[in-house]
Amino acid sequence: MTMIPVRCFSCGKPIGHLWEKFKELVENGMEPAKALDMLDIKRYCCRAVFISHVDLIDLIAVYKKF
Ligand SMILES: [Zn+2]
Repeated sequence: MTMIPVRCFSCGKPIGHLWEKFKELVENGMEPAKALDMLDIKRYCCRAVFISHVDLIDLIAVYKKF
């Protein structure tokens, strides 16, 4: 199971609860940047936390095909 920090390391914004929604959007083909806009994650520091986990989403998606 993929875990991201409950809060952004840099600004302290709570982001952990948004991960599942973000993952769902990206797995359904939305660009990560667009998904972050939709979830109202505007600061670069917070976006970086999500973007750094996108690789894990791709991995999950690949495994689902088999
Ligand atoms: Zn932040």
